[in-house]
Parts: sequence; C-alpha cells; structure tokens
Amino acid sequence: MPSDRLKKLIDCLHDNHDAGCDCAAAYKEFECLAEQAVRGVDIHELLPRVALHLDLCSDCREEFEALVSILGEDNEHRVNE
Ligand SMILES: [Zn+2]
Repeated sequence: MPSDRLKKLIDCLHDNHDAGCDCAAAYKEFECLAEQAVRGVDIHELLPRVALHLDLCSDCREEFEALVSILGEDNEHRVNE
C-alpha cells in the first residue's frame, strides 16, 4: 500500500543526517572512504551506512568506484617513482 512507501520515505528523511539512504551524505564520505578502500580496508567495517548505500544506489556506486580507481592509479604512480 502507498502508506507503506510513504512511511519508508519519511523514515529515510528523518535519518537523513546519518543514514545511508541519502546520496549527499554518502558523497561527503567518498573521498575518505575511497582512500581506505585503495589500501584494502573493508568499507563495510569502516562506514557500514555508506557502504550499504553504495550497495543500494548505483549512481553513488559508479561515482565511488571511479574515485577508487583514480586514487588507485595515483598510488601506483607514487610507488613506481
Ligand atoms: Zn546514492
């Protein structure tokens, strides 16, 4: 029923400042999280909410994976020098 969907939406809005369902909030953590991911840290342990959001949101996942690959290339470059 629509009321169920509405409730979910409201829950999502309520948790906006610290929940994984908000793209803007997840995006803020991307840079830090990508740096850790490049080092092989499990982002699910580091920031479960953001990691969960990445699992659910393909837009954010694409952004994040692009960032990880950019940072990864950067790291390789530095190691080679
Ligand atoms: Zn998102």
